[in-house]
Amino acid sequence: MNQPDNDLEHYLDKHYIHKSNWLRAAVLGANDGILSVASIAIGVTTANNGRHPIVLAALAGLVAGALSMAAGEYVSVSSQTDLEQADIEREKQELAEMPEIELQYLTEIYEKRGLQKETAKQVAIELTQNNALQAHLRDELGLNEITKANPIQAALASAAAFTSGGILPVMITLLFPLDYLEYYLYGFSIIFLMLLGAFAAKTGGSSPKKAVIRITLWGTIAMVLTAFVGYLFGVNL
Ligand SMILES: [Zn+2]
Repeated sequence: MNQPDNDLEHYLDKHYIHKSNWLRAAVLGANDGILSVASIAIGVTTANNGRHPIVLAALAGLVAGALSMAAGEYVSVSSQTDLEQADIEREKQELAEMPEIELQYLTEIYEKRGLQKETAKQVAIELTQNNALQAHLRDELGLNEITKANPIQAALASAAAFTSGGILPVMITLLFPLDYLEYYLYGFSIIFLMLLGAFAAKTGGSSPKKAVIRITLWGTIAMVLTAFVGYLFGVNL
């Protein structure tokens, strides 16, 4: 059954899976930014009550965090890309050296997906004639354009997401009064994390309530623990 391209594109766009990769990375990065920068700022605030060291620590945490997220993402996506490239080269070689076995293998894949033996064979033959490498990469290795990641893009997206989250607690260390600054940092950071968690859950098609409870719990644990460490250092230094 033929479907006009834009209808098909519109239909595919409805599915959450297509939004998942960049969304998960963006939310993770922003979450990390808010939580780690706010925790650093809270820790320094409970240890010391001068604004300058607090702002400095928050800014240093923001820059260090954004760069380490970018470096981590670049390294992990690059090694993923290297792996995929090695798989593609091996698949090309196998297709050149043993096309019959590869065709048989593709047929078995379609049979396992529920096609009758004859239909599976016919589909495998036609897709092989059309573009053998593409058929094997997609149906045998599960590689396709959607999962293909670009290391630089991923690194920049990750650093941008971290920065977009981390800049919020930095603004609080600059704009709010020093008295009770740790409470402003905690309060606003938890609100930002809850909003982010609810948005991510809603966009990803899962329960916002669970996501909000999860992030509030872990956010509170992280910030209270760093406040405690900061307090310990504050009284002992
Ligand atoms: Zn193959």
